[in-house]
Amino acid sequence: MLLGFKTELKLNNQQRVKFAKHSGVARHAWNWGLALTKQILEHNNALPDSKIKFPTAIDLHKWLVALVKPENEWYYECSKSTPQQALMALRDAWKDCFSKKKGVPRFKKKGRKDSFTLEGTVKILGNNKIQVPCIGVLKTYERLPQVLIKCCTISRQADKWFISFRFDVEQQQSDKTSVVGVDLGVKNLCTLSTGEVIAGAKSYKKYEAKLSRMQWLNRHKIIGSANWKKAQILIARLHRKIANIRKDTLHKLTTLLAKNHGIVVIEDLNVSGMIANHKLAKTIADMSFFEFRRQLTYKCQLYGSKLVVVDRWFPSSKTCSNCGTKKETLTLNERVFECGHCGFTIDRDLNAAINLNKTVS
Ligand SMILES: [Zn+2]
Repeated sequence: MLLGFKTELKLNNQQRVKFAKHSGVARHAWNWGLALTKQILEHNNALPDSKIKFPTAIDLHKWLVALVKPENEWYYECSKSTPQQALMALRDAWKDCFSKKKGVPRFKKKGRKDSFTLEGTVKILGNNKIQVPCIGVLKTYERLPQVLIKCCTISRQADKWFISFRFDVEQQQSDKTSVVGVDLGVKNLCTLSTGEVIAGAKSYKKYEAKLSRMQWLNRHKIIGSANWKKAQILIARLHRKIANIRKDTLHKLTTLLAKNHGIVVIEDLNVSGMIANHKLAKTIADMSFFEFRRQLTYKCQLYGSKLVVVDRWFPSSKTCSNCGTKKETLTLNERVFECGHCGFTIDRDLNAAINLNKTVS
């Protein structure tokens, strides 16, 4: 199975300049190809009798080499795979648009989602170095997996650059048989049917307070001014820090679950306890739920475990895990589940986790 890997790069100024140039080429090729393909579509709509064949990525690259490159000399300073890959991505974007999976591809703006792809001799040298075409050897902070790769993408987030690539790993076979139900919550990150409670990282709460203060202080600055730009960078950095803490916590949790249990049971959407009044809190919670599920899916595959996703309408919180009686109502404030039928008392989240566990065992 294919695994993705993404890590930050340790750069010097020369490399930063090269990255900016490559991003520029990728953006220029994409925008040129997008303008051209849009014209072709317009033409085909206006004159259905004399339709032009919609170009493939190879067609687009041939035209780019013949028409665009000679007029824009800076293309020659960059790897030839960069515009090629940008056009392939454009063709994929159109494919998704034609099959109604996604909307119409958009023009790229400088400084927003800067990225480019390099194909060719990508070599991992030792633990912290990677050699890429045209740019040379790049250093990383993190240890690199010792794998073979043919293609890598370099992208910018705030003022930092990252490298990402995919590689093939063999799935592990396992004979684990234990079942675990997982209930995600607001108060704690999650409760397991084994009774284990994982509190999650609290440290980001401190940064979240700092973030909202920074956004508040920034409210009267003129958009585009030097001070506004400075503040935007600080805000973007803090956003990244919070996202990293969340991601790291989720990675630890999903690895723990997938490695140690044969079957992991989760709810389709963490509705129980997630319907907070805060609109923002909900979106953030939902986003981390999707990340949680994404990680759990590939890690279960990797460690040879099974992931069971229970229907979102399954009343995991309302049902008594002792006798199976379903309650009519259960408010969010009721942190302890008390069964009216058998008198069983249990922590609300643990009750939900046990019910999830029961759906398979
Ligand atoms: Zn009961």
